[in-house]
Amino acid sequence: MRRIPTPTENEAPDSFKRWKRRHSGAGYDRFRDSAAKAALKDSLVRRQKFLCCYCESRIKKNTSHIEHIEPQLGGLSKRTMDYSNMAASCIRDPSEYEKLHALSGSDFSNMGSSILHCGHARGSHKVVSPYDSKCERLFFYSFSGEILVNPDLKDAADIRLAEESITFLRLNVPQLVNLRALAMYETLKLLEKGVSEDDIMRELYGKLPPYISAAKTAARRWAERGKSLE
Ligand SMILES: [Zn+2]
Repeated sequence: MRRIPTPTENEAPDSFKRWKRRHSGAGYDRFRDSAAKAALKDSLVRRQKFLCCYCESRIKKNTSHIEHIEPQLGGLSKRTMDYSNMAASCIRDPSEYEKLHALSGSDFSNMGSSILHCGHARGSHKVVSPYDSKCERLFFYSFSGEILVNPDLKDAADIRLAEESITFLRLNVPQLVNLRALAMYETLKLLEKGVSEDDIMRELYGKLPPYISAAKTAARRWAERGKSLE
């Protein structure tokens, strides 16, 4: 999970600020159908460099949803309209996503009935925030593409937060594991060819490469092993 700088209310798009001024005290439920929502999501996607706030898969405005870091709790949360409580997470429409992946023959084994992950899987469970400075060091990535609890963690509360974040966000669904493994493998091949790590991880047209945390882990382990894939 890549740490994202916490948004400030000032950074929010003007159309969102205007809507809030015109609808003083209104919650997110009323905002749902507003035209300002598209601009709001677009701003979040861009500030996240087109990566899901949790799994780092590539997102665009039409393949993502607005995630509330502090859950909405059916409207009970006081922060449903705070820009600093919002992020963009992958998968726009859960039922469409499940239909699409069922049709494409995704692997359902050991997954129960759902292939959803990230914001749509989380519900109201507590998970680490991508705006929390500790979110990067909670995790480790295996070359098989799994996200794991960082074995260097000492604090029991941190270990539990990492475990629960992986579980509730379903960060090890087969599709994510496979794509992460591919990103790590491609990183190693490029490093072997002499491409620098900086060039591999470079931001291009405002976009960072997907699964960049796993790719960085691959690069670090490659360097530690004396630049050998063995
Ligand atoms: Zn995601």
